[in-house]
Amino acid sequence: MNTEQFKEFGYAAVNYIANYVDTMRTRSVLPDVEPGYLYDKIPDEIPETGEDWRELLKDFDEIIMPGITHWQSPRFHAFFPTGSSYPAIIGEMFSAALGIVGIHWAASPACTELEVKMMNWLGKFMNLPEELLNSSKGPGGGVIQNSASESTFLCLLAAKAKSIRRIKKLHPELNEDEISSRLIAYSSDQANSSVEKAGILGSIKMKLLKTDHDGNLNREVFLEAIKNDYNAGFFPCYMVATLGTTGICTSDPFDIIGSICKTYNMWLHIDAAYAGAALILPEYKYFLKGVEYADSFNFNPHKWLLVNFDCSALWVKDANDLANALEVSRIYLKDNCEKENTQLPEYRNWQISLGRRFRALKLWFTLRSYGKKGLQEHIRNHINLANLFHTLVENDSRFETVCPARMGLVCFRLKGDNKYTEQLHEKLMSRRNIYMIAATLNGKFILRFVVCSRLSIEADIRYAWQEIVSQADLVLSNNPCLLNGHSTNTN
Ligand code: PLP
Repeated sequence: MNTEQFKEFGYAAVNYIANYVDTMRTRSVLPDVEPGYLYDKIPDEIPETGEDWRELLKDFDEIIMPGITHWQSPRFHAFFPTGSSYPAIIGEMFSAALGIVGIHWAASPACTELEVKMMNWLGKFMNLPEELLNSSKGPGGGVIQNSASESTFLCLLAAKAKSIRRIKKLHPELNEDEISSRLIAYSSDQANSSVEKAGILGSIKMKLLKTDHDGNLNREVFLEAIKNDYNAGFFPCYMVATLGTTGICTSDPFDIIGSICKTYNMWLHIDAAYAGAALILPEYKYFLKGVEYADSFNFNPHKWLLVNFDCSALWVKDANDLANALEVSRIYLKDNCEKENTQLPEYRNWQISLGRRFRALKLWFTLRSYGKKGLQEHIRNHINLANLFHTLVENDSRFETVCPARMGLVCFRLKGDNKYTEQLHEKLMSRRNIYMIAATLNGKFILRFVVCSRLSIEADIRYAWQEIVSQADLVLSNNPCLLNGHSTNTN
């Protein structure tokens, strides 16, 4: 493809994308295809000679788009938001065009330096403790990772290496393998699946502590587990606390958990994958209580902060802990640049892969394009819309919410037997007009309604509610006893 063709394809692609965004509501949020739909539509071999870009765009439209779930649609209320915005898309485009691999500073100085700057911008905007930031004079700093899962795993590796060194000093009679096999980590039973996976990948037993009926981790449960495990010969080393759990968006008490971690020399990692973005709002500052105990803090701008996947922001109190666990030197990795007084990180020692993408660009474009006010408006809009949905549910006596609206999430169900909500969910999913996922809480089958799209407005919330009510009417008409005495007010 030559430059002229690139321009033509590029303009056509941008037009396509803009039109896609503008017409998102006209599409069914879930695709109407069967598993394997694509296989016979794509040849079994690479074409012998190059094809015209028009063919590519045509096939994208005809083959790929029918198999797309529209994550950016205002009808998408599943999981958590996955960010996307025009400036982020352009940032990604530039990153692809530059095609750099930031293995060290000299590999593209702007790649490392912009990332340092962006992580400081973000950390300050969120009021994170100064010592987590590169801008402090200490060993702390921020880095962009692929995902929250990777961040949890990397910090587990750092905690593991650090604990082995510490315990070796206390127990010189034990070798490293013996210590390693006796390390134990904790989180709550509400933690994301990636936390358990981190334990598997890092070969550390991960204990998921039982939470109370509101999904809260209790001080006594944590303390008792640590004490029992100590007595059984284990060495507690790592705790993952959550700000905004995946199921019902509860948060652990960082001050209580943190002080216990400090007492027992355990690494505290805070997984704020989704809800961390709300820290840009002054009204959510109280969530920071106890965050000073954190050895590491992670949230995903690629969830709620309008930057497209992947962009996961991780800060550590002492970056040497990551490097001590991960650094592997080779002569070809030396960049022979004098950086002693610059506080510039060797990011390859803070991550799994050697190469790294220029992800700071899309973050830079997004943060500048929206500004603090624009980003705050976006988060507030979602929270207000979730509150509106919560009110709509509460005003219909056939339904119940199972917890307060938290951030952009509302968890609710039809009153009575689980089967009614299960039937409701099945009906909604088969219609494909809105997309929600289910969860369970204390044995109750619940639906999670999340405000996800940056395009969402009040009319979208009312549309979703009407859709839910129309299907609830059908479910309940088959079970009339439920209707007795209940209003069907849909507002
Ligand atoms: N932690 C929490 C609390 C989450 O909700 C999620 C995903 O929704 C994750 C971690 C995993 O995020 P990622 O896909 O970036 O690994």
